[in-house]
Amino acid sequence: MFNSRLKKKISELDSELEIFKQRIDLLENENNRIHAILNSMVEGVIAVDKDTRVLWLNPTAENIFNISQKNAQGKIFLEVFPNNDIADVIALVLKGKEPVSKELALIWPVQKVFQVNASPIFESKVTSGCLLVIHDITEIRRLETMRRDFVANVSHELKTPLTSIKGFVETLLEGALEDKENSVNFLKIINTHADRLNTLINDLLDLSHIESKEIVLKKDKFDLAGLVNEVISGFKSQAKKKGIEINSALPQGLEIFADKSKIEQVFTNLVNNAIKYNKENGFVRIYSEQLADKIKIVVEDSGSGIPAKDIPRIFERFYRVDKARSRQLGGTGLGLSIVKHIIELHGGNVGVESTEGLGSKFWFILPIS
Ligand code: ADP
Repeated sequence: MFNSRLKKKISELDSELEIFKQRIDLLENENNRIHAILNSMVEGVIAVDKDTRVLWLNPTAENIFNISQKNAQGKIFLEVFPNNDIADVIALVLKGKEPVSKELALIWPVQKVFQVNASPIFESKVTSGCLLVIHDITEIRRLETMRRDFVANVSHELKTPLTSIKGFVETLLEGALEDKENSVNFLKIINTHADRLNTLINDLLDLSHIESKEIVLKKDKFDLAGLVNEVISGFKSQAKKKGIEINSALPQGLEIFADKSKIEQVFTNLVNNAIKYNKENGFVRIYSEQLADKIKIVVEDSGSGIPAKDIPRIFERFYRVDKARSRQLGGTGLGLSIVKHIIELHGGNVGVESTEGLGSKFWFILPIS
């Protein structure tokens, strides 16, 4: 009798133990799942207790702040993350028990912009800590600024010739039409500004086409020296006016596999600049250097050169060393950024070496096949 009661009890305990085991397994699985999610998050996650001691941080947070979980755990937040802005957000959450969301520009440990979302952690309805989710929005903000600058630049560039055109048309309408000699001059000026608008819009269309993700390069094998000679022929009369000599020393028969019309545009823009910013009776030389499976092309000129401080920004859209001079020479400030995009689309890279007053060497490297 006693034995059978004992057996029954043991069997009841066994099944209760089994249920406990299953629950522990369930909790463990749940815990592993949460850890897997936190570990794979692109956002940094940091948990602190009510005294702001660090409980846990995920690998992204370790990377952002360059600190390991081992070195941070158990320490006061400000000791390991010396950032008052984030500490203030934590204090606000622990005090107010409400989530706080803030955009913070950090200088340390890296110069970045973060969106910080902080929420209270509750245990039995009492705030026991704070959970920080840190989202890196540096790139988004950078792109926004770039877009804003681009729109402002385009508007400004379009406005200048338009204002002139409108001014001269009004003058003509107000009576200058009667003055034969001046009216022809005014019309010539209007024509120049209309040409400017046209060039600018063409460059903008080229740039937006090259930058669009849909662009497909029409690659073919072609003779580089032949293409360059064609480009040079197109600049003969422009060069002659300034007494500039253009020479190509590209080896005959050098074939590359690339989009011919795009590479033609690269040469056109570089040779155009080499003439525009050159001195009277100067020279333009085009030559190449064979690298392992690549080719380096140099367009050298004896022109004004580029001040060292401007060189890092010279390939940016609308960046010009001397705005007035570029405009006067019919420049849009987009030529070099078109060059850079085309070369990068081909898997190559561009650069410039220049000495102010002596001249410039614009170069690009392209894979041969
Ligand atoms: P732009 O239409 O003004 O020529 P680019 O993008 O082609 O625009 O060039 C940007 C700026 O770089 C020019 O305004 C000029 O200041 C400078 N630059 C370009 N090429 C040369 C060169 N060969 N020699 C000196 N300065 C140059």
